Amino acid sequence: MKFDIITIFPRMVEAGLAEGVVGRAAASGVLDVAVHDLRAYTGDRHRTVDDVPYGGGPGMVMKVEPVVRALASIRSRRGAPGAVVLLSPQGRVFSQHEAERLRTAGHVALICGRYEGVDERVRELVTTDEISIGDYVLSGGELPALVIVDAVGRLVPGVVGDAGSVEEDSFSRGLLDHPHYTRPATFAGHDVPAVLLSGHHAEVRRWRQRQALARTLARRPDLLERASLDEDERRMVADLERDAARGEGAGEEQDDRVGEPTGAKGTGHGRD
Ligand code: SAM
Repeated sequence: MKFDIITIFPRMVEAGLAEGVVGRAAASGVLDVAVHDLRAYTGDRHRTVDDVPYGGGPGMVMKVEPVVRALASIRSRRGAPGAVVLLSPQGRVFSQHEAERLRTAGHVALICGRYEGVDERVRELVTTDEISIGDYVLSGGELPALVIVDAVGRLVPGVVGDAGSVEEDSFSRGLLDHPHYTRPATFAGHDVPAVLLSGHHAEVRRWRQRQALARTLARRPDLLERASLDEDERRMVADLERDAARGEGAGEEQDDRVGEPTGAKGTGHGRD
């Protein structure tokens, strides 16, 4: 999977790629990430990337020519990206579904805006997707680009050590993830649910399934409406809804907690 990030702050992006699983995958070549300094594609000795807005008004606008030149250079040196993403608060809101779609593009270029934004002709001429990471305005597209590289990158086989953990992450099945615990079994009077210490894999699986459904029902019922559930899960949701209607909460068990780990031996290796 290739990423090309076009920015006026390459060091900011490189710093964000220096740590963690995605950083390691970039360093080892599992992910091929290239950061391009937009100023290298300017045509004047001041390396100008912005100019005043036509029609007047506050702030500056990022110029079209350096961005188009940067993309032409990427195409000739690194191949044509399957998706050219303009980061913008006006774009489609990024989601796990979008991350999976970009993953299938195989090669993604990301254009980081600054100032008042990017000359509209960048969107018209070279952009395939305009993506926002949420309904708020940041000062630049660098953090959104890192968010996208991280979310898409971790879907690439070999980036996250245990592929199973990616499959169980929130949203991967349209549900939120179940709660996680590690040692100690008791902390400040809060115990780990006893089932997790029981060593009964089938019961642990069922508890996690129920917790994921309960959390999704309580926090994001909109996701549950779209999730594809099997017969057993639909029954669990019906139970949880009945409990909630009776005022017994959404089933996030708190009452069966004690003991020391029996089956669960920590590996000492986190995911990050
Ligand atoms: N005037 C622009 C507007 O209201 O649409 C906002 C420009 S913002 C200060 C500068 C740049 O930050 C944008 O061009 C975009 O690249 C990036 N940016 C800001 N917020 C963003 C968000 N929520 N998602 C993605 N990119 C964002």
